[in-house]
Amino acid sequence: MTINPLRHLQSTFFVVCALACSTPAATTNAGATAASPTLPPTLLLTNASRAAIAAWCATQPASNINAALHALTPPQRQQLVSCALDTTVTPAEKQQVTEAALMVTDSPDLGFYLELYATTQIRRHAAPSGAYAAGDHISLSSGMLDKKDTIVLRNTITHELFHIFNSQQHAAPGISGLNEGTAIWIFKCAYSDLPRGEYDLGLAEPTFGTINFYRDIGIKGYPKNIDMGIPTKDITPKGREVYETILMARDPSHLPIFDAQAMQAIYTYYFAPIDRNQAFDKWLRTFRQAHARMLRDRAATSPQ
Ligand SMILES: [Zn+2]
Repeated sequence: MTINPLRHLQSTFFVVCALACSTPAATTNAGATAASPTLPPTLLLTNASRAAIAAWCATQPASNINAALHALTPPQRQQLVSCALDTTVTPAEKQQVTEAALMVTDSPDLGFYLELYATTQIRRHAAPSGAYAAGDHISLSSGMLDKKDTIVLRNTITHELFHIFNSQQHAAPGISGLNEGTAIWIFKCAYSDLPRGEYDLGLAEPTFGTINFYRDIGIKGYPKNIDMGIPTKDITPKGREVYETILMARDPSHLPIFDAQAMQAIYTYYFAPIDRNQAFDKWLRTFRQAHARMLRDRAATSPQ
């Protein structure tokens, strides 16, 4: 298993993250349309099995999991999430991890994280800061847990588990702009309590910013040139569903994620010329100008 530390400073939500390129632990059969999004009653028992939760989720599109979860009362949802979670953090930390995990699934778009909870262990490791995703688990640093900042924890769990989602659903792969970009954009577009200043740069800034970060600043031992990470035809129906109905539907950049040629052309013309190795506010300012130019040009050339 390869762990690749990735420091993505392009977000104001600084996270030291690692991506795992290993084979997914579980492949889901999303898109198999269920007759009803209602949860099987056995999953609402206090001793509901994690495996049973995972098995049910695997047969459901993300929209059904979202609907089923949000049809529950808050105490029922809390119980279900508690049954799905598997964590090795200390008993004292478990409460805040559970609270943050519940905040994730309280978001109407992110009920489908229930499946990620039921298939991914949440661990802790001794380090002053950061978190990473690797194969069948994510790990939160002791330093992050010590700060007891539930919002940071919520965003980090959302981010790291989305790397697992990308792996399980054969979406944006490995060390790539889109693997990192989607894992940042998912929490920026899902939570309305985040600063709106970066929202309007959509998926473009975290995706192209990641590519330029590796190129201009770099991480010791890692390549300077990383892939865009366009999902291949192997992406699962659930992967495509989440990309299309959440990430792309909310994206003010309107990035054509599945069109490799168009994505490369957009990057090369508008964003590749920008040096990432400058103060973050300057980077954002320059990026914002290029982003506005891109939107103007595309509006001018799109069919009326
Ligand atoms: Zn990441």
